[in-house]
Amino acid sequence: MLNSAILAEFIALLGVDRVFVDPETLTLYASDETPKSCLPDGVLFPASHDEVVAIVKLANQHHLALVARGAGSGNVGGAMPVIGSLVVSFECMTRILEFDPANRLVVVEPGVVTNDIDALANSVGLMYAPDPGSGAYCRIGGNLAMNAAGPRCVKYGATRDHVLGLRAVTGDGREIRVGGRTTKYATAYDLTRLLVGSEGTLALITEATLKLIPAPESIATLRICFSSNASACAAVSRVMAQSVVPSALEFMDRRAIEAIREYGAAEGLPAGTQAVLMVEADGVAADVPRQIVALENALAGEGLLEIQSGFTASDIAGLWIARKSLSHAVKKIAPLKINEDVVVPVARLANLVNAIDGLGKFHRVPIVSFGHAGNGNLHVNLMVHADDADEMVRARACRDALIEAVLGLGGSLSGEHGIGSEKRAYVGRELDASTLAMMRDVKQLFDPRGLLNPGKKLPDV
Ligand SMILES: Cc1cc2nc3c(=O)[nH]c(=O)nc-3n(C[C@H](O)[C@H](O)[C@H](O)COP(=O)(O)OP(=O)(O)OC[C@H]3O[C@@H](n4cnc5c(N)ncnc54)[C@H](O)[C@@H]3O)c2cc1C
Repeated sequence: MLNSAILAEFIALLGVDRVFVDPETLTLYASDETPKSCLPDGVLFPASHDEVVAIVKLANQHHLALVARGAGSGNVGGAMPVIGSLVVSFECMTRILEFDPANRLVVVEPGVVTNDIDALANSVGLMYAPDPGSGAYCRIGGNLAMNAAGPRCVKYGATRDHVLGLRAVTGDGREIRVGGRTTKYATAYDLTRLLVGSEGTLALITEATLKLIPAPESIATLRICFSSNASACAAVSRVMAQSVVPSALEFMDRRAIEAIREYGAAEGLPAGTQAVLMVEADGVAADVPRQIVALENALAGEGLLEIQSGFTASDIAGLWIARKSLSHAVKKIAPLKINEDVVVPVARLANLVNAIDGLGKFHRVPIVSFGHAGNGNLHVNLMVHADDADEMVRARACRDALIEAVLGLGGSLSGEHGIGSEKRAYVGRELDASTLAMMRDVKQLFDPRGLLNPGKKLPDV
């Protein structure tokens, strides 16, 4: 508990301008995108690695829990405080520490906004590939902690695949440097990959060395309309089974299209369209047409209504704005929706959408599905209204059955949003007891007093 004496110690450390305990600030930092909240005791804004070390040491002295926070755009309560905790916001650690195009890397502090890294890379013909839909405001520290992904990740991989090294502070205040600056590295245990996706439960990341790759010379976009979800997903499996890897392969069902109608998403769709895929190919300009032909051949099949191409640059920008608005558009319709982020092996995506259609009908719950189909990753939104008790009971049963179906298909609870506080009750269904015990041992090693983001990622014992 943060009493006035301890508060004075934090103020002595950071200055009065970067320690907040007023009700307005506590309320602002009480939740992420999850429709739940818990007031922290205080919000701290470190401006350097050394200040983070000092915060963690002080928290250890007084046994205070610390909840790291980027932009609070997470969907699983990952940055949601727990009672008596302090939020450590990385919004003041926004420096690009080094930009080294010759070695295709950039070293950043955790508060840098993701799209700014890509924009910097673009200025010299490079790119930072992971492109979460929230990229305009989420922070790289949050992306690292969640192993965030986005449309381009079907071709280029998720955040974890673009990290060379990290500097971080463990739960007992030790500085660690993991990984390096090279694209080959075989010295240490791969603690870099361990920290990516650890959701602020093992260490606070204070610096990241990220890999940059050449930006594609040219990108071509297709919009493909199907008469059913299953036929669209069968096409996804065909695309992913041939040799041309698309640089985006996104799925939207009919309800998702309706949710973003105001962005023109339903304009120009042929009658009977029940599902839409957005597919992109990128690369050297002369090669993109060959890739598009291969993709069109793979997309052709039962249920295909139309392949639309020849979009202008502004059309394409509009399509992506609409696609990236989906998450908030769906939330506007049902603010308390249950949002799953399931992933299955891509060849089983059609089985997954069939299961979702069946579960929605059986439990009488409207479901909106969309997502990064090329990775087998769907955001399945159960559009419930919390004031309808009967619907909530049916929705919980539906969610339960959905998770069973996903695990039965060899899939996983989360493709990119992580576990946070919201999914951890289900983790024991996916991971066996010895794996969970090993994860708890790892947590104990990094954070012996359990101060970093308690109540997240791991289920209760
Ligand atoms: C409209 C919308 C679209 C989205 N699209 C995508 C998408 O396409 N792909 C995707 O993967 N996600 C997506 N998300 C989810 C979310 O944006 C990502 O999870 C993102 O990585 C969170 O970043 P953040 O800065 O907001 O982190 P926060 O939500 O603040 O925190 C997320 C987690 O990271 C931890 N954390 C933050 N900083 C640090 C640090 N420095 N060290 C250790 N732990 C830290 C927090 O404790 C928390 O557990 C979307 C969300 C929204 C609202």
